[in-house]
Amino acid sequence: MSHDLLSVGDLGADGIDEVLQLTDSFVEVSERAIPKVPALRGKTVAWLFYEDSTRTRLSFETAARRLSADVMNFSVASSSVKKGESLRDTVQTIEAMGVDAIVVRHRSAGAPWQVAKWADASVVNAGDGWHEHPTQALLDCYTIRQHLGSCEGRHVAIVGDVKHSRVARSDVLAFTAMGAEVTIVGPPTLLPPSLEGWPVAVSHDLDSVLPKVDIVYLLRMQRERMASGLIPSLREYTARYGLTRRRVDRLGEDALVMHPGPMNRGVEIAADVADLPRSVIVDQVRNGVAVRMAVLYLLLGAGSDKVLTGVEGAS
Ligand code: ASP
Repeated sequence: MSHDLLSVGDLGADGIDEVLQLTDSFVEVSERAIPKVPALRGKTVAWLFYEDSTRTRLSFETAARRLSADVMNFSVASSSVKKGESLRDTVQTIEAMGVDAIVVRHRSAGAPWQVAKWADASVVNAGDGWHEHPTQALLDCYTIRQHLGSCEGRHVAIVGDVKHSRVARSDVLAFTAMGAEVTIVGPPTLLPPSLEGWPVAVSHDLDSVLPKVDIVYLLRMQRERMASGLIPSLREYTARYGLTRRRVDRLGEDALVMHPGPMNRGVEIAADVADLPRSVIVDQVRNGVAVRMAVLYLLLGAGSDKVLTGVEGAS
C-alpha cells in the first residue's frame, strides 16, 4: 500500500498478505468488551459517497471510530453538490478543513484516482462505477483464509453479473494474486465483452462448475447499471444461474457460499441457501470492519512507514 488504496492490484500478494495479517489483530480488538484502540487518535477520516451504500459506509465509519479517529460525514444528497459544486471543489473544501483520509465512492470509474491527484490526504477507493472495490476483495480474501486456511490452490466460481461488477474485477485481481484459480460463470450477455488479460476460465454452465469449486461467489444483478434486455427474465436467470438448494447439493462438503451484499434472495441465491452454515455472508460483513481498520491503520497509523517501504508495486 502506498499513500492511497485505489486498486487492490497495486498491493500485490505481499501487500494483501500484510493487510490480512494485521486484520487478525483488529478482529481480536473487535471481539473485546470495549472494541476500541487509540491508534488513530487525532486523525480525521472523511466520507465522500456519491453512490448509495449501506455496508461499506457503515463499515468504514465503524472501523474509523474503533481506531479513535474523528469522522467527517459528508452526505452528497444534502450538500452543495446539489447546487452544482464540482468534485474538485468539494475535495478542496473538505481538505481545507483538515482531513487525513478521504474514503470515496463514485459512479464513475477512475474518480478516486482523480481525487488522489487533487488531495494531499490518503484516498481510499470504496467503489468506482463498474471498476474496482479493493476493500471488498481484501475482506473476501480474509474470509476465505479464515474458513479454508488460505486462498492458495482454491478454486473460486464468480457467478452472475460480472459485466457490471466492480467486486468481480477486484476479486479476480486479489484471488489470483493469492494463488487461487477463478472461473467466471454467467450468460454471455452478463460477462465483459472482452476478457483479454483476465486470468480466469469462463463457463456458461453453473451446474457443471459447482462440483469442482471450493467457493461459489454470487453477484447481484446490478440493474441500476444495466441496459435493458441483457437477460430474457429474472425467472429465467434464476433457473439457470440461481444458487438453489438442489444446486448446493452439487457442491463439495466444505465448499463456501459468498456474496458481497446486498442480496436479492430468490434471484441469485435462494432464501434458505443464504442462511446455510456454509454461507459465510455475515462473516464477510463482520470481517469488513477489521479489514478496513487494518487499511486505515496502514495508511495513517504509526505502522505506516514500515508498511510503505515493504510492499511490492507501491508507487
Ligand atoms: N455492495 C457491492 C458494491 O458496492 C455489490 C453490489 O452492490 O452488488 O459493488
